[in-house]
Amino acid sequence: INFTKTYSPLTSAEIVAKEKSNMDEKRFKHCIGVSKTSRKLAELNNYDPDKAALAGFIHDYAKQVSPERFIKVIKEQHFDQDLLNYNRAIWHGIVGAYFIEKELKITDPEILTAIRRHTTADVEMTILDKIVFVADFIEPGRDFPGVEEARKVAYDNLDDGVGFELAHTLDFLITNRKKIYPKTFAAYNKWAVKD
Ligand code: GDP
Ligand code: FE
Ligand code: FE
Ligand code: FE
Repeated sequence: INFTKTYSPLTSAEIVAKEKSNMDEKRFKHCIGVSKTSRKLAELNNYDPDKAALAGFIHDYAKQVSPERFIKVIKEQHFDQDLLNYNRAIWHGIVGAYFIEKELKITDPEILTAIRRHTTADVEMTILDKIVFVADFIEPGRDFPGVEEARKVAYDNLDDGVGFELAHTLDFLITNRKKIYPKTFAAYNKWAVKD
């Protein structure tokens, strides 16, 4: 992987090394898949492919950070304390952006927002937010019933891809009686509901 534009004082090689050392091999492969799919979705949606590839690559940087470290940051950096009622599934995006800023030294607000929104989505979504959110769901390594349809829908129309993914996620959360983060719910109402 090579990022031709610089969003960090670190080199591409340094970012790749830090990313790799922060997660296991399986997760690293997923990040490469999300990077490639983000690039493809960017090309289809007139967005900067290099920037999308970088955002996709780092989106799960904090996925395997310990719960203890997350809790410390949520408390000390004055995040919404309601986050403490959730777990790493929600934290690694919203709070993960903090680790990305500190450790990968990325300050670009568009990239950081896309990381924050990549798990829950949100009512307001930029093109980059949608690209990373959808790429995370359809990258080549993903294999779940419905992934082929998700790919078809998303490559056809990015907004429809967001709606399809949110409907699938809500379905999963309800089936498994998981706690729904309010933003996930609001995003579902915005992007998935067919009037
Ligand atoms: P990953 O990091 O590549 O595994 O993918 P994501 O960041 O998109 O999602 C991680 C997990 O968070 C998935 O299993 C989602 O189903 C789950 N998730 C998304 N929204 C919510 C929510 O509102 N509540 C809970 N409990 N989990 C959620
Ligand atoms: Fe994630
Ligand atoms: Fe996702
Ligand atoms: Fe991911």
